[in-house]
Amino acid sequence: MEKTTGAEEIVWDLSILYDGADDPNIARDIEAVNQKVETFAATYRGRVAQLDAEEMVDALIQVEEIYDQSGRIQSFAYLQFATDTAEPKYGALVQKINEFSAEMDQKLVFFDLEWKAIDDAEAEKLLSDPTLGKYRHYLEAERRYKPYTLSEIEEQLLLEKSVTGRDAWSRLFTQITSALRFDYKGKKLTQSEVLKLLYEADRDVRSAAADSVTAGLGERMMELTYIFNVLVADKASDDRRRGYPSWISSRNLANKAPDTVVDALITAVTSNYELVMRHYRLKRTLLGHDELFDYDRYAPLHIGATEREHSWDDARGIVSSAYHRFNDRAGSIVDRFFDENWIHAALMPNKRGGAFCSPVVPSAHPYVLLNYTGKTRDVMTLAHELGHGLHMYLSGEAQGITGLYTPLTTAEMASTFGEMLVFDDLMSRETDPAAQLAMLLEKIEDSFATIFRQVSMNRFEDKLHTARRTQGELSSAQINAFWLETQRAMFGDSVTLREDYGSWWSYVGHFVGVPGYVYAYAFGELLVLALFNLYKQRGVAFVPEYVDVLAAGNSDYPEKILAKVGVDLNDPAFWTEGLAILRTMIEQEEALARQVYPEKFA
Ligand SMILES: [Zn+2]
Repeated sequence: MEKTTGAEEIVWDLSILYDGADDPNIARDIEAVNQKVETFAATYRGRVAQLDAEEMVDALIQVEEIYDQSGRIQSFAYLQFATDTAEPKYGALVQKINEFSAEMDQKLVFFDLEWKAIDDAEAEKLLSDPTLGKYRHYLEAERRYKPYTLSEIEEQLLLEKSVTGRDAWSRLFTQITSALRFDYKGKKLTQSEVLKLLYEADRDVRSAAADSVTAGLGERMMELTYIFNVLVADKASDDRRRGYPSWISSRNLANKAPDTVVDALITAVTSNYELVMRHYRLKRTLLGHDELFDYDRYAPLHIGATEREHSWDDARGIVSSAYHRFNDRAGSIVDRFFDENWIHAALMPNKRGGAFCSPVVPSAHPYVLLNYTGKTRDVMTLAHELGHGLHMYLSGEAQGITGLYTPLTTAEMASTFGEMLVFDDLMSRETDPAAQLAMLLEKIEDSFATIFRQVSMNRFEDKLHTARRTQGELSSAQINAFWLETQRAMFGDSVTLREDYGSWWSYVGHFVGVPGYVYAYAFGELLVLALFNLYKQRGVAFVPEYVDVLAAGNSDYPEKILAKVGVDLNDPAFWTEGLAILRTMIEQEEALARQVYPEKFA
């Protein structure tokens, strides 16, 4: 019989948006939005430069209304589809809404273009007018792109040619890597199937899987190397045309993270690689091997501990009480997600996998989707998504739609913080030291994956882009050397990375699709560790300041918002403090390991 968790009944209520895919109000609202867009374009096209502050605010209020109303339609279509991706009616609605919003965006794009075209002195005069209020930051942030924006005809050409240029190469990469099959003991496996074997307890399975990955990538190494070279060169020419000083500048701009902040982050992480080495040396001892190899990195450590099972009600209780203990208001907002059916947790045959929190729009409220199976990991996921929910709820309420969507660097702040709250709670309730150790090991490796691995990958990207710009086309062997050098720097003598592992850069989609992206993960996770550290030091005094940070949403640059909790992102010491909490966790796992398995340390 199927095991039940109580989450079978947990489905969301979308009726504040629409009643169903056939709801006639959808067509009515699309028509209403189209009307508003037409009126807006007729009123403002060619006139943006002449608007005074009051008129600008009026215009932006209309933009917000348009995006709020269209966002309700989009969110409904998307959320409904997520619960049953095989239902043709749901898919058709999503497609229809995508086309509707693409058309809408094209009609509205003139506004930003005209705003950026205004000369600096004129723009400055408007920006200094206090009438702008909460819209000032939005307008000011848009203008940061002005120095890197080309003429309209050049921009159009770049867009048009990217379809057969960057996008085409990117798609070829996806097609090649998706079509790759890896020979594993006579079976043909896909990339995700073969990579999953690296998490198996049996060492022979892991080692054979690693050989299979290397062999499979080797078959297409010529094409993959060529694609990387083309895309890295393409980015170099774009950056040169636009005048970006380095390969990472455009990414930092999008992340609202100054170069100095990113540098401070990278320096702090790379100078603490010794933490990674300490953990893997301990892992070596626990696994009982003389030497660990690249295929041992993800070896499971559920030694001796039984996995806990949690009913839906348990999970709700754990998460809700952790948030309440932190702050009553935060707890009450989290409770609304449960009480008012803003969560979809039931397992269903054609439901989307994984989990997400959708902000929807300020006139509605966020929704959370997850696939709840009762594992401790699922409880953490619930805490994570409700952290997003809390962040979006507070910023939507305080800022409206222009301040709702945070940049990547702070997008994971509340979610990861929520996980820490619940993790701390679960750890303190757990009485079996073996189970505590297993939880801690898993948590530490998760943090490593987001902090150290991503920064070491950023170091790889740095070498790749810099070398391509100065040395021209690169060979597979050269790129392999960059990969091994940057990965070995992180593991030191704790894990032996074989020459075979050198080609494993070649399947990482982020390098191809979104260059420079990876450090943002480290930024977010480390920021949270540092904030959590502050919380532990300052206690309740920290709480209202943190809630204000969440409510600030995207209303300012992260460094300015975080300055309000006394955080200085420019200070390398700040990042080091985040790492200090990780160091404490490693000390804790070392002590627990000695307590649970004294024989392994004899
Ligand atoms: Zn998240």
